Amino acid sequence: MNPYEKLMQIARGKSPWVYCVNTGACNGCDIEVAAGLTPRFDAEQLGVVRQGSPKHADILIISGPVTLRTRDALLDIYNQMPNPKAVVAVGSCPASGNIFAGSPTVYGAVDQFIPVDVYVAGCPPRPQAILQGIAEAAELLASGKQKNRKEVKE
Ligand code: SF4
Repeated sequence: MNPYEKLMQIARGKSPWVYCVNTGACNGCDIEVAAGLTPRFDAEQLGVVRQGSPKHADILIISGPVTLRTRDALLDIYNQMPNPKAVVAVGSCPASGNIFAGSPTVYGAVDQFIPVDVYVAGCPPRPQAILQGIAEAAELLASGKQKNRKEVKE
């Protein structure tokens, strides 16, 4: 099933609202996320609505490695999201630190701090792959199989 079909099926029950956070990305992944949510690929018509507050979101989309400066903000944003919630890590940076690994200002992978439900590979991934990741996260939420249940310690 392609991501559009999957999202259409899921959106009939509940539209997955998303909140995007850049924890230190080069902006490459953010541009692809924006392309996925705006009219070219148009996930919004399938109910994937970008929210301005984490308190209104079901899915957290993360780009970039976690840096020393963004770690606390990331945990704060994560803890503000109501349960159930899912996390999608977009690109190689939140998976491993990627080209930023080893920098003295970078922690690296996101899963050192919060559980990740779906990884979208690429540097950067294409918008279609990001939509597939969002669709998989929405499916996990619909089935109650997401990893994220509790607050994490700040
Ligand atoms: S995965 Fe690549 S494109 Fe995405 S933030 Fe990291 S370096 Fe930039």
